[in-house]
This record gives sequence, C-alpha cells and structure tokens, in this order.
Amino acid sequence: MADSSPIDDAPPPAAAEANATYDFSAAAGPLPTPVIARIAAACRNWRGCGSALSLPFTSEACRELMRDTRARMCRVLAIPGTHDVLFLQGGASAQFSLVPLNLLGQAGSAAYLISGYWSRRAMEEAGRYCNVRALDWNGASDWEAPWLDERRIAYLHVTSNETADGTQLRELPHARVPLAIDMTSDVFTRHLPWERIGVAYCAMQKAIGVAGLTLVVVRRDLLGRARAGVPCVFDYAAQSTNGSRVNTPPMFALFVAHAVLEWIDASGGLPAVSTALARRSRQLYKVIDSCASAFHADAPSAVRSPTSICFDLRDPHRARQFSDEAQRRGIAGLAGHSKTGGLRAANYIGTSDAAISRLCDLLADFAAPR
Ligand SMILES: *Cc1c(COP(=O)(O)O)cnc(C)c1O
Repeated sequence: MADSSPIDDAPPPAAAEANATYDFSAAAGPLPTPVIARIAAACRNWRGCGSALSLPFTSEACRELMRDTRARMCRVLAIPGTHDVLFLQGGASAQFSLVPLNLLGQAGSAAYLISGYWSRRAMEEAGRYCNVRALDWNGASDWEAPWLDERRIAYLHVTSNETADGTQLRELPHARVPLAIDMTSDVFTRHLPWERIGVAYCAMQKAIGVAGLTLVVVRRDLLGRARAGVPCVFDYAAQSTNGSRVNTPPMFALFVAHAVLEWIDASGGLPAVSTALARRSRQLYKVIDSCASAFHADAPSAVRSPTSICFDLRDPHRARQFSDEAQRRGIAGLAGHSKTGGLRAANYIGTSDAAISRLCDLLADFAAPR
C-alpha cells in the first residue's frame, strides 16, 4: 500500500465525497484525495522505514527523498541548471527579509512593484534593510518596468499572484535587474521565465503541500552576497553548499511535497494540472458574471487570478443568508482576506472539480429569483 503509485489508490466512495465539507480558504490549499490516502498510509509505515512523521534526515532514504523532490521540482517547473533549489523554513514572510539580506550585495536599493496587499508587506519588510523604490502597478496584464539602474538597484520584486486582491500578473516584467518573485499562491500554475529570475520563492501550504517548507529557487551567480550577520540557516549560499541540510530540514513537509509532485507527474505534469485549474476558475468566474444581480467580481478580466477568486455580494444585507446557505451545503472558508473583505474562493491545484461544482450551484441558486 505504502509503495503503490498515488493514482492506484481508489477515489473515496461517492457518498463520502458528497458528505465532505469543501473549504475554500486561501490560507492553505487542499491536497488531492489520492495524495492524502498515500500520506496517511506512510504515516504508519513508509517503505518499511517506519513512520513518515519521524524521518531522520541523516538517513540515505531521506537523502534520496530530498534529491528526488529537487529533481522533480526542476523537471515540473523547468528550472534550468543556472538556478539552485533550496528547501528552507520560515514561510514566505521570512523571505520578505531574506531576499534583501541575501541579494542586496553592494547595491543600496531594491525596487518593489506594488500590486496589492502581499507586495506591500514584502516592501515594508525590505525597508528595514535598504532603500526601497515603490513602483505603482497600473493594473495592466503586461506592466512594463521603468529603466532601473543596476548599479544601485539589486532586484525588482514582484508578487506574481495577489492572494488577497484576486489579481495575477499574467506577464512577468522584463527589467535590467533580476526579478525576485513571490509565487506563493500561483506556483505550479504556469512556467516561469527563469532567464529573468534572480530568486523565486513560495511557502508550500497554499498551492502544493503543507506549512513548514519554503521553496527558494535562486540563480547560482547571485549566491555569496549575504550580509554579514545573516544566520547560517538563512544564508542562501550556505544552504546551497550543504544541499539545504545546514540543519534539520522539515522532512514531513518535504515528504508531502514529494507525494504531490508524484501526483502531478502521474496526472500529466504541469500542462495538465494547470489546464484543469484554469478550467475550474473559468467555470467559477462564469457563474459569478452570469449572476450579476447577486454577485460582482471587480478585478479586470485580463488580470483576474485563477487561484484567488475574489468577489462579493451586491446586497450586504444578504451576507448572513449567504453564509448560512453555504454552511448548510458543506461549503466553508469563503470569507475574503481580513484586510480586503468581501468573499473569496481559493482554487488551488488540489481543489476538486466536485468542490467547484458545489460552489457554482450555491451561487446560481442564491442568485435565482425567489
Ligand atoms: C500567504 C502568503 C504569504 C505569507 O506566507 P507565510 O507562509 O504565512 O509566511 C506571502 N505571500 C503571498 C503571496 C501569500 O499568499
């Protein structure tokens, strides 16, 4: 059982699926059902090595697990040999500090494209370490970066998908300086232009995996510029030299990421999972748009996020009725981000077609004249 391929596991009986509550919270994405079954079995025993909950990172089996996770990441995301893959901890929020601390080098400044809540958070944190040049997003899907002086500005930071605002940068900008990308909420939904990227990072609990693992993909020629005083476990160069094993890596979170990557491979790779995700988001936006008497989604269609679907009720007086009806149908987690409000449905890689269909039915029935 523990060794079976993830797609061998039978899907749960339809009855169990019908009783499940679907949680659309953006804070953590659901794992695909076959992956959960596989992990549950491995928690008891993984390949005769004992429980996956207590994997000793010093063992050969764990080294192999890390190697294979890195190799699959590189293959699925088409990461070239110019870049290294680091497995760190601290979440995307730690990277808000670690990107400037590792990449500034002799430059005293960094540029930040401000497209919403999370990019602002990243810029505020960087402001503790360097001068930040804030660039306003004009809402264009192909926003163009201004001329940036590479002697003074170390990188241009962008948030590829604004989880709280519901917008996605469809085209990542071309700039004279390397890009630093927070891809926490849309990683594994598309290929990235690695030749423009200095560093790309994400916390794994949203798009794929569980909290505890932070993926950092960094261009190798940018390693070795960390500011003196950066803790060794957060020094990209030290972690690169040591294969992300300066100290104990988050082995269980790595195990989960590996299981999701196997599932992605078995499902047809990035093209297949991102096509399915795009189809689910189109289905949901279509229902929101066609129920315009009850709902509205404000993000311009050219930049609507496929993973963070933000919308709201036309009539705030029906909010209670809406949340009661959602609860009755086994739908949870629709409250928008605390800073932006409204409603939001996350559509991550592990979100099922059944979950989106149930949500679409709720919206359509709620909007139907009574
Ligand atoms: C959730 C989120 C973060 C914060 O991630 P943590 O793991 O909580 O630090 C950062 N950036 C984006 C785009 C997010 O969606």
